[in-house]
Amino acid sequence: MKVLKFGGTSVGSPERMHRVAELVTQSAEPKIVVLSAVSGTTNTLVQIGKALQTQQTDEANRLITELRQHYNTFCQSLLSEGSAQQEGEAIIAAHFESLSNITSEPFGTDVEKEILAQGELLSTKLFTAYLKSQDTPVILLPALEFMRIDANQEPNEDFIREKLMRLLSQHPNTKLFVTQGYICLNSQNRIDNLQRGGSDYTASLIGAVVGAKEIQIWTDIDGMHNNDPRIADRTFRIDNLSFNEAAELAYFGAKILHPFTVRPAQRANIPVRLLNTMDAQAPGTLISDQQQDRPITAVAAKDGITAIKIKSSRMLLAYGFLRKVFEIFEKYQTPIDLITTSEVGISLTIDNQQYLADIQQELRAFGEVEVDSNHTIVCVVGNMPFQKVGVLKKIVDAIDDIPIRMLSYGGSKFNISLLIDSQFKNETLNRLNEHIFTFPNE
Ligand code: ADP
Ligand code: ASP
Ligand code: MG
Repeated sequence: MKVLKFGGTSVGSPERMHRVAELVTQSAEPKIVVLSAVSGTTNTLVQIGKALQTQQTDEANRLITELRQHYNTFCQSLLSEGSAQQEGEAIIAAHFESLSNITSEPFGTDVEKEILAQGELLSTKLFTAYLKSQDTPVILLPALEFMRIDANQEPNEDFIREKLMRLLSQHPNTKLFVTQGYICLNSQNRIDNLQRGGSDYTASLIGAVVGAKEIQIWTDIDGMHNNDPRIADRTFRIDNLSFNEAAELAYFGAKILHPFTVRPAQRANIPVRLLNTMDAQAPGTLISDQQQDRPITAVAAKDGITAIKIKSSRMLLAYGFLRKVFEIFEKYQTPIDLITTSEVGISLTIDNQQYLADIQQELRAFGEVEVDSNHTIVCVVGNMPFQKVGVLKKIVDAIDDIPIRMLSYGGSKFNISLLIDSQFKNETLNRLNEHIFTFPNE
């Protein structure tokens, strides 16, 4: 069994969906195909939710009508044959009617999540209708019947395994399954999701529980690059990445992978291949347990970071101090990314500001608290045990006139992280690009 995930652009037009159908029917090997929403859809659904939240019902209805029009046109070229087209129209009508009905319900988180789920429900149903119109045997597995997160928003892998294996066993002769990325049920049995970009995570969770041979993430670029191609002036593709390198890059902002994608695959030791839907023959990037020896592999950046500094001459050296600080973050379920300490202070970063005011309030019991938002973590990833001298110097030299707010070194041999003001992000990424990498053929 292989798991193949296709992202928003890969299913972004009827032609692209036809192409995906070609790719998944090329071999008879058993496959589970995970689809994202058609590109742009989830953004529009977010806008619809925002309009409803601010009581702009007319605006929400306008966005729904526009999106429905887009799907009508999409469906006309996706499904050319009469009865298939009728089926497509029925799918669209059902989902858009339920969206329109939602606008008159009182708005809350549950309603918002239900709205956000429509994109993946639509793309998978339309894609399955197309495959059936081509006489391709296929089963649509409803993700809401097996994908589930617990009260801490963590995927419940035992539940997922049991439910999914049972569903698969009901179709012993089926070679092709399709399912929705991103969406799941939560511990209250309500519709929820795995956060933006979560279809990658769905694919790796499925791959891990079914013991897939390979997890393929098909997207609009030929693999993981050494730097963010949207920011760096030039970048190059990386052939092979270790799980550890890929996990750090995904977690610290390489958008090609949802932050948590790598760990389920790594735990089950299932290789992950990043492939380009527009250039299916290209080799892509292979992520596996093979350790790489390069000191520097790639750089990624994560925005929206808040730095918190606690200054306390009284408490820091007392044992138990760090525990008390961490307990506050634990109480508010706020993960800490970077941390540095000195004799009189501790600096740390968070990316979730939901409980910032409460955290700040409780930290004041220990001393003076300074908070700086709008920061970016720049993370240099590679295989850089401390014995390999010179790596840190190379990085710092490349950005010697950019103010570094924090520096985290030694936490793992796979990563060196810097905290900078977000205004310096683009310059930092470009300078690192030119100074710490050797471009192929140079
Ligand atoms: P999909 O819709 O297929 O999930 P995404 O937009 O989520 O695709 O991810 C692919 C995009 O990630 C690329 O188009 C690219 O702009 C961006 N990206 C950011 N950093 C990297 C990187 N280091 N390597 C490759 N792509 C990256
Ligand atoms: N459709 C969702 C999003 O746009 C999930 C995904 O594409 O992975 O965030
Ligand atoms: Mg994505």
